[in-house]
Amino acid sequence: MPVEQRLCSYSAVLMGSPIVLKLAEPDERLAGDVFRLIRQQENLFTVNRAGSQVMSINEAAGKHPVAVSAPVFALIERAREVSVLPGSCFNFAIGPLVKRWKIGFKGDSVPPAHELQALLALTDPARVELDAQQRTVFLPLAGMEIDLGAIAKGYIADVVKTFLRQRGCFCGLINLGGNLQTLDAPAGEASWAIGLQKPFGEPGALVGTIAVSNKSLVTSGVYERYFELNGQRYHHILNPQTGYPLDNELLGVTVISDSSLDGDIFTTLLYGLGVEKGLAFLADYPQIEAIFVTRAQQVVLATQQPFRLLDETYYVTDSIA
Ligand code: AMP
Ligand code: MG
Repeated sequence: MPVEQRLCSYSAVLMGSPIVLKLAEPDERLAGDVFRLIRQQENLFTVNRAGSQVMSINEAAGKHPVAVSAPVFALIERAREVSVLPGSCFNFAIGPLVKRWKIGFKGDSVPPAHELQALLALTDPARVELDAQQRTVFLPLAGMEIDLGAIAKGYIADVVKTFLRQRGCFCGLINLGGNLQTLDAPAGEASWAIGLQKPFGEPGALVGTIAVSNKSLVTSGVYERYFELNGQRYHHILNPQTGYPLDNELLGVTVISDSSLDGDIFTTLLYGLGVEKGLAFLADYPQIEAIFVTRAQQVVLATQQPFRLLDETYYVTDSIA
């Protein structure tokens, strides 16, 4: 029997994304516990539901600091650190722009330039005040908003992986709407063959597969969430400098790493850098590997994991000319 059919697959829609858990043995109880855990975690970070810790921070913008739990504080601390790196395209204070664009949601539209300018003034990550002693977060200007949408799934994928291991489960994978964490491959297999989705292709159409085990694989792509207006496509990863969607030669970036949180952070950073600068940047981070897919149908491999091309309209390279 093919390996995929030997596995037990459990799915749900959480965080607005399809979630798939694959286990070597049937275990309804474990699967139920994993989905409960994901829901609990989502409730801490969501910006779309009253009562989340992040929502409380946003609601207190311009008024007072808000105390949060240790894991939420640690994630915000990391997000701030990455956001203030010189030239970083990752910005966890980008909430006001994300809310205004509503990309991929009902009511999405292109905001007038003067509105974007006004909102940009509310997105300076360096202005977010953290107090490690009190574990508080303060947004000093009314209208400022934290958005952890780019990293919450990666963080939660890591939490799920740790949880599965604690429960004695060492073979399986969790796919949180594109954020994948793998444990050991199924018995008799050296690795998982993970499909790399074809940008703007039919569901299930793949550019190729990558062989991994005990690794995270995170993909960010312009084809994941977008809308079109007057022949122009607007996607959901915004340039914190201009307030418009990032625009370069990339259609998608996949990051292979141990931690899915790292993967989530690096997909956004690399997306902003583009292929050439991204490859140079990766030289300083040997633990992070990546695959870039470009508009010119190139698959630029910066990974040691075996990649198999399935779509001949693309070609594999290790740099761009
Ligand atoms: P992902 O799906 O991981 O690529 O993250 C995309 C989400 O991150 C968006 O839907 C926004 O909520 C948020 N976001 C958009 N642009 C940025 C940015 N430049 N930095 C950090 N988060 C962003
Ligand atoms: Mg991300």
